[in-house]
Amino acid sequence: MRVLICGGGAIGASLAYFLAERGAEPVVIERSGVANAASGKSGGFLALDWCDRTPLAALARRSFALHESLAETLGNPWGYRRLETLQILTNARQPMSGVAQGWLGAGAAVYARLGAPETTAQVEPAAFTRGLLEAARRKGARLEVGEILDLRFARDGWRVTGVTTDSGTLEGDAVVIAMGPWSNAAGRWLPLPAVYGLKGHSLVFAYRPPGPPQALFVEHEAEDGSRESPEVFPRADGTTYICGVSSRTPLPADPGAVEADPGAHERLRATAACIAPGLAEAELLAAGACYRPVTEDGLPLLGPVTGVEDAYVATGHNVWGILNAPASGEALAALITEGEARPVDLEPFDPSRLLAFDRVNPL
Ligand SMILES: Cc1cc2nc3c(=O)[nH]c(=O)nc-3n(C[C@H](O)[C@H](O)[C@H](O)COP(=O)(O)OP(=O)(O)OC[C@H]3O[C@@H](n4cnc5c(N)ncnc54)[C@H](O)[C@@H]3O)c2cc1C
Repeated sequence: MRVLICGGGAIGASLAYFLAERGAEPVVIERSGVANAASGKSGGFLALDWCDRTPLAALARRSFALHESLAETLGNPWGYRRLETLQILTNARQPMSGVAQGWLGAGAAVYARLGAPETTAQVEPAAFTRGLLEAARRKGARLEVGEILDLRFARDGWRVTGVTTDSGTLEGDAVVIAMGPWSNAAGRWLPLPAVYGLKGHSLVFAYRPPGPPQALFVEHEAEDGSRESPEVFPRADGTTYICGVSSRTPLPADPGAVEADPGAHERLRATAACIAPGLAEAELLAAGACYRPVTEDGLPLLGPVTGVEDAYVATGHNVWGILNAPASGEALAALITEGEARPVDLEPFDPSRLLAFDRVNPL
């Protein structure tokens, strides 16, 4: 069974891996480079129970377990590790604690312990996405570089049979839209609910904090009194990642054309210096901007496209796309090859829930 997966982010890579494990023939079609969008620029933070008491609970718990077993099985080239997670308060105008605590500056105060190594973990998300796709390729998956321009349909009804790219056509037994926030453009071809893109900025420093690894969720008050909630993740490779400064700048049509908002990286750098003095002095290795895919109700779209045979969608994972990639790929692979999603039931994420007449994608 050949499955055409449109989009080479964490969701497409995970689906390719689990389809290949089942003996299917996945083909990932990616326009601008595997993990070049949010899946390569996100935090890569993972939590066991932060989605409890929401419809995401089972998906998150299964994914948290799969992250550990995938790292074990595939040699962990993506720096998976457990870590402690703290909530921190910082204020650029007045020091919060007055004393340095470990790698945190005198301006930062520890407010709460949000997670222990039993419940929180991390991966380097670009390496995770590329590593999973590489593992899928070793099991027979293929990667095609190209922009998907259209879908192909059977003459005799509402059944999808392939895709048209800028370099030709590809035939398949099923097609999956996994183009992150650009999945919205697939509303031109299929009856899909709207998908939006919300922008965030990030910096990566050559800095390894002393002591055991700690992820930080920060409540920061800037010099001008504005409030932000950046996240800081020291990584196993000796770097430290910080993200924040969200914005509603419109999504560009080309994933390769995403640019930072003016001044966003400078603001983030000033915040980083306030959190930990070591970050102020460290070499800056990368400065990124990316869009997370969001739906009307904040939950993913995972399942068959209403009314079109052999068409599926897998997107809208919002702030938890790296965490929830494994169980999303696993369950969707079962649905496509066997007709039943398992072990996680994907019913809460059925795309048809958002297909009320007034909510249909306007494209
Ligand atoms: C700043 C930030 C920090 C985050 N931190 C975390 C975190 O700590 N933990 C966590 O779990 N999640 C986090 N997330 C969320 C996570 O990054 C996303 O949910 C996830 O990466 C979405 O993956 P995806 O595969 O759906 O989409 P994407 O990564 O956007 O991939 C979609 C791919 O489709 C391709 N594409 C688009 N259009 C076409 C086309 N026409 N033809 C071919 N290819 C196409 C794109 O080039 C892209 O590579 C964060 C997000 C942001 C923005």
